[in-house]
Amino acid sequence: MHEQIEPEPFSKKGQRTDTMLPLTPPSTVQKPSTSGNHEEILITPRKLFPELRKLSSKARKPPLRYRPERNTVFDIDQYLEGSRRGKCSEKNAKFLRYAFEHSRRVVMVAGAGVSVAAGIPDFRSSGGLFSTLRDEGVASGKELFDFNRVYSSAEVGLKFNRMIADMHAKCQETRPTEFHRLANTIAKEGRLTRLYTQNIDSIEDGMSHLQTQVPLEKPFPKTVQLHGSIRHMFCNKCSKIYDMDPSLFKAQEEQLDREVFPLCPQCTEFEVVRAVAGMRSQGVGKLRPRIVLYNEIHPEGESIGDVVSKDLKGRPDCLIIVGTTLKIPGVRAMCKQFARQVHQSNGIVLWLNTELPTKSIEDFLGFIDLIVVGDCQKVMSVFDTSSVLSK
Ligand SMILES: [Zn+2]
Repeated sequence: MHEQIEPEPFSKKGQRTDTMLPLTPPSTVQKPSTSGNHEEILITPRKLFPELRKLSSKARKPPLRYRPERNTVFDIDQYLEGSRRGKCSEKNAKFLRYAFEHSRRVVMVAGAGVSVAAGIPDFRSSGGLFSTLRDEGVASGKELFDFNRVYSSAEVGLKFNRMIADMHAKCQETRPTEFHRLANTIAKEGRLTRLYTQNIDSIEDGMSHLQTQVPLEKPFPKTVQLHGSIRHMFCNKCSKIYDMDPSLFKAQEEQLDREVFPLCPQCTEFEVVRAVAGMRSQGVGKLRPRIVLYNEIHPEGESIGDVVSKDLKGRPDCLIIVGTTLKIPGVRAMCKQFARQVHQSNGIVLWLNTELPTKSIEDFLGFIDLIVVGDCQKVMSVFDTSSVLSK
């Protein structure tokens, strides 16, 4: 019975193993053979070979036969329209595909450009969130994301709240884009070291292999949200994290004289308990979206630093900077570190965005192999249909 359910690895079917042997085995029981080339060798490595082959094919990375000159520009639209000359050459298309298909330790640093196709407004581009807000009477879109402005003026605070509620509603409707799916495939294949996203839409959470974790702790999740997420809110006093309740942020203009920011339920509860116990009041914290604003100290800066150093030690062989212009100094510095490390490992650094990097960004990063201009959602179209990534 035992043998049928769970055969011991080194036993023949129907034969007892050492652990099962009585102290004095009856003569009918054969001891497992220990001799080498005997036909009674109880295990054949048959099953091992496919596994080994799988491993070795994973380990085998085809040699990179061509590398474009530093900062070479590849235009996706031109290529897809049929141009195969100059910088839109097949060679560069193949190089791009090689990076996505064969890199084994990919670090991606993503920005708003990745989520535009999901209906999330870009911040800085013309027609993006900042300029829309400007039309609505806010001095600058950026003002609404400035910690000092939002939390020092009830008027700006209310506008901020309204924007948060709107944005949350928008994020609830989104679906992952083609590019999110591509990143997920790479993660599924065990080749994504990390996705660092500046987006607060949490679209990655809708993908099987791009999950994040709040707060950021070991073991570090696949996706690191560099600027937090609109799906959570927290208390500025007790730090308790809650799922976002947008209705709390829907205060109207006429409520200017009332509390602009919602009160923390946990703090409120503690206050009641303290009052009952005759203890002194310690005040109640206010809830705010768990996103990082301009001019505030990053609450998770240290943990993010830990993830980055861990990933740098892991010797990434590909850095993909996608859908961002790297305007945020911290993110820019992080990309520089990764670019240098990837370069040292003979890896590939890709820039993938609708806009070219500025000259100063090019110089700052130092090592961009290919600047891919165009919508990142179209990058799959550049690869052959036979690509493993198209599965
Ligand atoms: Zn609290």
